[in-house]
Amino acid sequence: MSAVSAFYSVNEIKKPAQDRVHHNNGACPPGRDIPSWERKPGDGGYRLCEDCQKLNREGVKRGAGQLLLSRWGAFSMLHPRLFHLKKVIDFKET
Ligand SMILES: [Zn+2]
Repeated sequence: MSAVSAFYSVNEIKKPAQDRVHHNNGACPPGRDIPSWERKPGDGGYRLCEDCQKLNREGVKRGAGQLLLSRWGAFSMLHPRLFHLKKVIDFKET
């Protein structure tokens, strides 16, 4: 995933306190706009940026969804045969 070590911009201090944020997602657009020489490691005591929060949430969701989908894909490919086999067995038993 695009999770990176927390960082914040040295310019956050120029913003009003409630607007100061840190980032921890490499795909975050405002985070990416911060040049490396303006980055400080850690959260600086600031809250996590909303874009990072969103990306982190979606990243987790997307990751789990893909896993579920691939499992379902494998299962549904197998399932018609199993279902058919079960019907054959049921038929023979009755
Ligand atoms: Zn961010």
